[in-house]
Amino acid sequence: ARKPFRNFPMVPRVVFGRGSFDQLGDILLARRISIDAPMIYLVDDVFEGTELVGRLPVIFQDQVIFISADEEPSTIQVDTLVARIKTDHSERPSGIIGIGGGTLLDLAKAVSVMLNNKGSAAEYQGWDLVQRPSCYHVGIPTISGTGAEVSRTTVLSGPERKLGINSDYSTFDQVILDPDLTEGVPKDQWFYTGMDCYIHCIESLQGTFLNAFSQSYGDKALQLCREVFLGDLPPEESRDKLMMASWHGGMSIAYSQVGVAHAMSYGLSFILGIRHGLGNCLVFQHLQDYYPEGVAQFHRMMVKHNISLPTGVCAGLTEKELDQIVEIALGMVPLWENALGPDWRSKVSREDLKRIYRKI
Ligand code: NAD
Ligand code: ZN
Repeated sequence: ARKPFRNFPMVPRVVFGRGSFDQLGDILLARRISIDAPMIYLVDDVFEGTELVGRLPVIFQDQVIFISADEEPSTIQVDTLVARIKTDHSERPSGIIGIGGGTLLDLAKAVSVMLNNKGSAAEYQGWDLVQRPSCYHVGIPTISGTGAEVSRTTVLSGPERKLGINSDYSTFDQVILDPDLTEGVPKDQWFYTGMDCYIHCIESLQGTFLNAFSQSYGDKALQLCREVFLGDLPPEESRDKLMMASWHGGMSIAYSQVGVAHAMSYGLSFILGIRHGLGNCLVFQHLQDYYPEGVAQFHRMMVKHNISLPTGVCAGLTEKELDQIVEIALGMVPLWENALGPDWRSKVSREDLKRIYRKI
């Protein structure tokens, strides 16, 4: 029998434009259930004390919660937030608004799912385990690249593994794309998170799962990434274009899959706690055998922006730890299948991967 076609959800409403953040109040007004059903703003704590906070449309019982993005989101953190929101308010929230990078966007998605579903977030890590629709939730990215604003997943580290809550209910009900919000991003972080998008494009476009749907978004995102990272755009235009690149890159992988860099970066993240964007860059720089053109261009981008990646990251690892990282990377079966085809196991060896990790 033929495999059923993916029926995948998209963000139903999106606003784009510099300064569009100020429309948030009007957008939320239509979604307020009652005076006692608050809007909860989960905001990256990098914005604490900045003018952005003064622009939040806080009324009635609304609550602003600042959260650090220093650590990637965990199931415990989600459970704690949900418990706190439930005890702080007499009624369930009208909505959850996530403001920040992939970390805050993923937290907002997970919290909105868990407000309406029983138990711990850890029980829903996996594919399509969520039973009940989530609370209304809005995503407002302040750094571009992950595609978390369009995806149907929220990546959480749990008691047993790091795995997404992949669900149609994770997808945002509303996204606000205001490129001005990305103005203060530090340069290195801009590059790492931007390269997440670039790598999504390369892995999607070079993958065996590629189809016209994914290609149309991937081609566009890749073209935008090249303009941003190899061209000489004015800063505003660069921010506009990277925000749209992130969106299209996310759409591209939604209907295909990522590849070698993501599989190997997962291992780094799990054992060494290395963040997604940086981990992808650390791996990707050495993937010339898999993505020759993409890697050559990546090096040109690094040179143009004077980026130097950390070195000696894996130097202190024991042989046993290295084996463990390789095990985690090879466990990402769909990613390898996409990258190398159904007989991927005959095309990649443990020793190949170890050799790459030792260079990092
Ligand atoms: P992030 O959210 O971790 O933020 C990175 C750093 O940038 C933080 O220090 C943050 O405070 C800072 N920052 C963000 N916006 C800023 C601004 N405007 N000004 C100054 N500093 C700012 O970074 P990210 O790379 O966007 O997200 C990484 C996370 O996204 C990982 O947890 C990863 O698992 C997740 N992710 C999710 C998906 C998905 O589809 N759900 C896809 C890819 C990655
Ligand atoms: Zn990624």
